[in-house]
Amino acid sequence: MYSFRFSFCVVTTLEYGIETLSYYLCPFKTIASMSVPTTYSFSVENLVNIGLKNSENIHYQLTPHELVQHTLQMGEGVLTDSGALSIVTGEFTGRAPKDKFTVKDEITEPSVHWNDFNVPMEEKYFDVIYKKVLQHLNDKKNIWIRDCYACADPRYRLNIRVVTEKPWTNLFAYNMFLRPTEEELEDFTPEWHVISAPDLKLDAKECGTRQHNATVVSFKHKTILIAGTGYTGETKKGIFSILNYILPQEKNVLSMHCSANMGADGDTAVFFGLSGTGKTTLSADPKRKLIGDDEHGWTEDNVFNFEGGCYAKLINLSAEKEPEIFHAIRPGAIVENVTFFPGTNKINFDDATITENTRVSYPLDFISNALEPSIGNIPKNIFFLTCDAYGILPPISKLTKGQAMYQFISGYTAKVAGTEAGVTEPKPTFSACFGAPFLPLHPGKYAEMLGRKMQKHKVNVWLINTGWTGGPYRVGHRMKLSHTRAMITAALEGKLDNAGTIIDPVFGLSIPTEVPGVPSDVLIPKNTWADKNAYDEKAKYLAGLFVKNFEKYAAGVSEEILAAAPRV
Ligand code: ATP
Ligand code: MN
Repeated sequence: MYSFRFSFCVVTTLEYGIETLSYYLCPFKTIASMSVPTTYSFSVENLVNIGLKNSENIHYQLTPHELVQHTLQMGEGVLTDSGALSIVTGEFTGRAPKDKFTVKDEITEPSVHWNDFNVPMEEKYFDVIYKKVLQHLNDKKNIWIRDCYACADPRYRLNIRVVTEKPWTNLFAYNMFLRPTEEELEDFTPEWHVISAPDLKLDAKECGTRQHNATVVSFKHKTILIAGTGYTGETKKGIFSILNYILPQEKNVLSMHCSANMGADGDTAVFFGLSGTGKTTLSADPKRKLIGDDEHGWTEDNVFNFEGGCYAKLINLSAEKEPEIFHAIRPGAIVENVTFFPGTNKINFDDATITENTRVSYPLDFISNALEPSIGNIPKNIFFLTCDAYGILPPISKLTKGQAMYQFISGYTAKVAGTEAGVTEPKPTFSACFGAPFLPLHPGKYAEMLGRKMQKHKVNVWLINTGWTGGPYRVGHRMKLSHTRAMITAALEGKLDNAGTIIDPVFGLSIPTEVPGVPSDVLIPKNTWADKNAYDEKAKYLAGLFVKNFEKYAAGVSEEILAAAPRV
């Protein structure tokens, strides 16, 4: 067992600054029932220097099995019939973008693109929240610490120390980040800290927050504080955000909100898309090696995964349609916010009583054909995934260079009723670079890097509508997953290179008229609508939304990109 008990003596007053804190570590006592592992030793001095003092039990680097046992003992989880840990995340079952703050200091003030997703917080409030979080954890009987890292390419490795109030948040970090070897742990120095205190409710006035929960990122202190929310996704997307700052700006690496996989002859495909568009689902392809399902970097010579795990949606999951994900629900995996069939521990995948956003997290190697390490070649194909609930965009189309840039900057998808309270009609969303909530820099930075790389490497770019066909939401239905998969396979195998195409009159997209394994009438959206006039009207409406959204970028882009706008 890798479990320790440490006690810490504070020799300075508790101040917020990690760098300014110096703590003296008292000799640790081991608990009789927990033995010190003989297989590895690591630097005790290095373990905690952030101001944790009174926690009687600091559980460092526990195994998944131990973390599951702790969760069960605390009554915070149960096992599913397939042996996964099932937990509920509490009040929050999704990210809270309005409660994510970036500390405005001399580092971020001039460099961060301040907007609805990059909300500034004064430094003084970070100090207040930091103290509160530390106090909260110091009052706890147990806390869990995990050393891990992000970025599979060792040139960009980012060491992370995750400090958690809950054992299951710690297991999430084990599943989702990269796991250092015992040797690597010996001289592990954390660069960034993530400190998670879900049960801490903040006083908004005192803490400068919107309400009782917040995720606060400080680049100066290299710390992410998560308070008042137990949603595990905050942890991974917090680190994603900081990598979206560091990599493009300091390392000349394009960071991307995308999944990626690689074919037998080393051809890499990346799949950009907003939440729910199919990144995780479509990258799990038994014929291709999985690089990662959500966050990647594109360097001069490769594409690498930031993470060490996947975070897949469970709503309506079936073993037949998504076997890889289904079989990853096993010991070590964490399922979130699901319900069971009465009297059983069998997950009812169709039940959205707690949330539509039911999830499972698991280490990458739970997918049988995961690439290890998760580093692939330069992309040969890029897919932009959109879930168009209006049923207007074609299920597959090939983009010109200008169109690719136009679509990337636009980042269109549509939310449907049911996911968010108050949404009764499809709600169009334009999210720059298919990931605006996670991008600290101006979208132009990422777009410009992608444009250069696409041109240099002559990448094929495809737009895939995984959303509605046969009419809009409520009238038509979601594109069949088997059809979307067949279209992607055809594109990857070069079967569309010489296919006949027609040009969509409004969006200008080049649509293949034949795709192996897909009935041709699915390919042209208008043909799938009973009411052709209604189609034309909706197409015009959607085109108008694109044009309106693009107004804010129009001044800064080339003629070629502007020419790719839909015709209203
Ligand atoms: P996030 O960024 O939130 O992780 P994601 O892009 O990874 O989102 P997925 O988890 O892949 O999105 O979700 C896509 C969902 O849509 C899955 O539940 C999948 O079963 C469902 N789906 C239905 N039809 C299709 C289709 N034609 N293509 C892709 N996904 C589909
Ligand atoms: Mn995903």
